[in-house]
Amino acid sequence: MSEMKEALTWRQVLAQQWYLTKFCFKKAPGFMAFHLFESIKLQISIFMEFTWTVNYVLTVAEEGGEFKKILWCMGILMAAIAVSTVTFAIYKHYVLPRGTQVLYRALRMEIYEKTKEIDLSCYDDKDFYETFILATEETDRCIDRYLESVDFLAGRLVGALCSVFYCAYINPVALFVVVVILPLELICVAQENKKRVAARMERVSHEQKREYGNRVFYLSDYAAELRLYPQMKDKCRDDYAETNNRIELVNKKYGKQLFGYGLLHDVLLSRIIKEGAMWTLLLYQMLVLKTLSGAQLITSRSCIWRISSNMEFVIGGYRMAAENSAYIYRIREFLRMESTIVSKESETVPEGSGVLSVEHVDFGYLAGKPVLKDVTFAVKPGQKVALVGYNGSGKTTLVKLLLRLYDPSSGRICYHDKDIRKYQVMAYRRSIGSVFQDFKIYAATLKENVLMDVEDGSREENYLVEKALYDAHFTLDDNRLSYQIETPLTTEFEKDGVNLSGGEAQKVAIARTLYRKQDMIIMDEPSSALDPLAEYRLNQELNEIARDKTVIFISHRLSTVRDADCIYMMEKGRIVETGTHEELLVKNGKYAAMWKIQAGLYADVC
Ligand code: ADP
Repeated sequence: MSEMKEALTWRQVLAQQWYLTKFCFKKAPGFMAFHLFESIKLQISIFMEFTWTVNYVLTVAEEGGEFKKILWCMGILMAAIAVSTVTFAIYKHYVLPRGTQVLYRALRMEIYEKTKEIDLSCYDDKDFYETFILATEETDRCIDRYLESVDFLAGRLVGALCSVFYCAYINPVALFVVVVILPLELICVAQENKKRVAARMERVSHEQKREYGNRVFYLSDYAAELRLYPQMKDKCRDDYAETNNRIELVNKKYGKQLFGYGLLHDVLLSRIIKEGAMWTLLLYQMLVLKTLSGAQLITSRSCIWRISSNMEFVIGGYRMAAENSAYIYRIREFLRMESTIVSKESETVPEGSGVLSVEHVDFGYLAGKPVLKDVTFAVKPGQKVALVGYNGSGKTTLVKLLLRLYDPSSGRICYHDKDIRKYQVMAYRRSIGSVFQDFKIYAATLKENVLMDVEDGSREENYLVEKALYDAHFTLDDNRLSYQIETPLTTEFEKDGVNLSGGEAQKVAIARTLYRKQDMIIMDEPSSALDPLAEYRLNQELNEIARDKTVIFISHRLSTVRDADCIYMMEKGRIVETGTHEELLVKNGKYAAMWKIQAGLYADVC
């Protein structure tokens, strides 16, 4: 949030506004033109109704003109107001809701498109994460604020200019009051706005914490645990109360200063000094100099009042634009991010199994904190390889590198004898089937959750999805699956949706891999949510299905890895032992020690 706390310069503000102006006019030109037209039209009609017409009617009356003239003027005014009201109603009820939706969607789509491109490593960076969260949370409000600031800056400026020109025509001397007092008023309003922004910025981090507190209390994810650990609930409640106190303190701190500026502006400058100077001047012109008629006095007063109030809105519009610019700046920063995991030569991945070799790979998420150190091994086509080791030894990280979600800091990974950085990234990733321990089930049908792609709706597709589920031991013979593979999963949007158990969900994740016919499969704890018997059976099945495939898998349960062709034992980012189950037991090293701890646990099953 560091950037947000520093105010942008006026040049930066203009640059952000210009960016959003181009964006909005490109995505919804008709709507933007209508919006601008309505903003300006509203201020012109206010000027016509309350200043020009009043002056005309009073002047005609003072000069003893015909009543017919006044009637005509009023008739034209009423007709113009009627037309203007109709166009405004069309704008408000039809154009505005649709136009804003078009803009919300356009900006969100750009952000979502970018989300697909950016590296996974970006999510490890706190600054990126804040930018990303802010960009997604603020898109709609950015558009709203932009439209409002256009309204203020364009419409109100035109309104002020109408009054300036008319006042210069009717009574130029009266502009003197504006010239002297308006700058003071604007300085005061600008200072007041600055304080308001400073208060808001100071509240931001507390408000984020309060938002977190809110989430803890309303999201079902926390509900069960908080019932079991009421002390945590008390801590969250205390933190929530504390953040509210801090917000109140900030409000108190700035409240006094804002009250001071309010008094200075609203009471002293606007009421006492401006009104006093204006009435003295106008009455002096009318009663002593006799250069001003009653109509001109009223019109001059109206003009001065409108110039001041419109200019205050212009300042408010600039303040809003400046505040909005800080968010737009963040959104643009996000949209400018470039992926570093790119295809260097876009070579196609050869068909069939190939050797996968990891050569002296080093890697760390953060500079100076290595997670993988000099990792070297090779997997031959059709081999079944297991990665084992205690938590935090680097197994999942290694798998992420194999899938090119990250690139090594040094060393290289080759597939089919070529550095994987030479392959087109998505084609390489798609050539490998993968199951992660933190897989997700999406609010979509069971079929879509297996396909993870656009459906073609063919019978063959349905058959293959059912087969993949069957092979993953997912049973479709279940009363809850009323629509079989078309059953919606999760109850988030569908009343008749189905929430799967952890084990069932894991089988769906495995079916995703089995549906695709990749030659290599990488599985990170593929069966951790299954009971030992189900796990044993599934492993037998997977061994059968993946007989000709290369399989790399991570498992904590050593009983599932004992049949692997080769086991790599990892510790603190290094491979410390290599061999088959029997070889490693004979070695009597770290693997054997781990095995002894687990031995017997699954003896009945294995
Ligand atoms: P394992 O799969 O063997 O349990 P991991 O590969 O998940 O181990 O983690 C290895 C080390 O890397 C751990 O110390 C972990 O805290 C760290 N680590 C994992 N993911 C990240 C990340 N996104 N950012 C920073 N450190 C991470």
